[in-house]
Amino acid sequence: MKPFDDYPRGGRWPLGHSNNVACRTGYGLELQRLTGQTCCAYCGVSLIVDYYRWLFLSVDHVVPKSAALLLGIPSSYTEDFFNQVLCCSGCNGFGNRYTVPPALGQALPEWQRDRFVELRDRVFNDRRERIAKRRAIERASLRGNLG
Ligand SMILES: [Zn+2]
Repeated sequence: MKPFDDYPRGGRWPLGHSNNVACRTGYGLELQRLTGQTCCAYCGVSLIVDYYRWLFLSVDHVVPKSAALLLGIPSSYTEDFFNQVLCCSGCNGFGNRYTVPPALGQALPEWQRDRFVELRDRVFNDRRERIAKRRAIERASLRGNLG
């Protein structure tokens, strides 16, 4: 499943995490170099076409930390690069305050890696659909304001 198929080891195994707290010059840059991603995982806009696009680079934790607490997922999974995607700041804003719907994932006493990867993929699809809807609604409301 895109974009994870393009990650090392098909994005199905932990890849480590960054200790650098800066996004564009730290963990976002490391994620970009590690995975080769160049576009927003949600809307597809290129983030590397020039420096101005790069300024919109953001990183999304697909399964949010809050869900990790609620569902008993180890933070070693949610903090890992294999739970992160490059995205534009617009999509990151649309995706804020996301909570995992109960239909997508229930708490487990122990999270095996493959179960987590399945959850991550379901959550990614759900987030991508929600962001696309919110984007379309905002865009429609701006009809006449944009060139
Ligand atoms: Zn985007």
